[in-house]
Amino acid sequence: MTLITVRPEGLYCEAGDFFIDPWRPVDNALITHAHSDHARPGCRHYIATAISAGILTDRLGSAISLQGVTYGEKLKLGSTWVSFHPAGHVLGSAQIRVEARDQVWVVSGDYKRCPDPTCDPFEVVPCDTFITEATFGLPIYRWQSGTDSCRQIYDWWQSEPEHPSLLFCYAFGKAQRILSELRPWSDRPIYLHGAIHVLTEIYRQVGVPMAPTKPVAAMPRDYKFAGDLILAPPSAHRSSWMKRFPQPQTAFASGWMAVRGARRRRGYERGFVLSDHADWQGLVTTVQATGASTVYVTHGQTDVLSRYLTEVQGLNAMPLQTLFEGEGDS
Ligand SMILES: [Zn+2]
Ligand SMILES: [Zn+2]
Repeated sequence: MTLITVRPEGLYCEAGDFFIDPWRPVDNALITHAHSDHARPGCRHYIATAISAGILTDRLGSAISLQGVTYGEKLKLGSTWVSFHPAGHVLGSAQIRVEARDQVWVVSGDYKRCPDPTCDPFEVVPCDTFITEATFGLPIYRWQSGTDSCRQIYDWWQSEPEHPSLLFCYAFGKAQRILSELRPWSDRPIYLHGAIHVLTEIYRQVGVPMAPTKPVAAMPRDYKFAGDLILAPPSAHRSSWMKRFPQPQTAFASGWMAVRGARRRRGYERGFVLSDHADWQGLVTTVQATGASTVYVTHGQTDVLSRYLTEVQGLNAMPLQTLFEGEGDS
């Protein structure tokens, strides 16, 4: 590796003296998106997309030094040109393009290729070297559209008119995508756990259209949520917070619901497959579309995808060891 190397703090570009999604505090951090395995606290200065500023400051504190950029805007950092391009993962998510002399590198961050009404669609950025994620990098992962998955969620909700329907999903990105997909089908308020309510308000402030919502905490103590849909983060599952809801039906929306047995192991009655990451075909076609001759694979199924890219696609591909955990946001 030359333009970007792995240091103990994270992916480092010496020519520009910055890190991308560092996992330890550094002076200059470029952030692909605000999920906690990519945006860590304690850096002296952050650069991220301006549209993600609300989420980043909610998570890292309003006192951080944050420079917001628009998609495609070119920044001169050291001897490099840097720009952020839509990754289609969550609000404000970006791939980061780094150009120096005759080389172009792109760090994908997390990305998906399925349409998502809450964020700009993924943009193919031609490059020489592509650092791709591989969270769902196995051929068994093949997504239907988010609209189809959310239609199933709607039908499940409608099937229970007398008791609450509790849907668990990640608080940042997944919850708002579901709210946006449900908007055409329901004008009834959907109730939100506090952690989801805060982030949903930030999405509303930047104009993302979603179904009407109310915080659970705003309802009177004796309200029974009969026939209501409630969104909550997985951490609330089986917590005392659930006592609020009499005889609920429960479900979990995640890419991991495609894994046989995962729903039962986690104790949910239903599972809906809905991921904010690229599926196998999405990963492979994206790598091809960039035209990159060298590919580093990080974040998930690195061995399987890099072997496929090398043996079947004839690329120079290899796993890259990083500390991204990457399961918390899938
Ligand atoms: Zn993410
Ligand atoms: Zn991630």
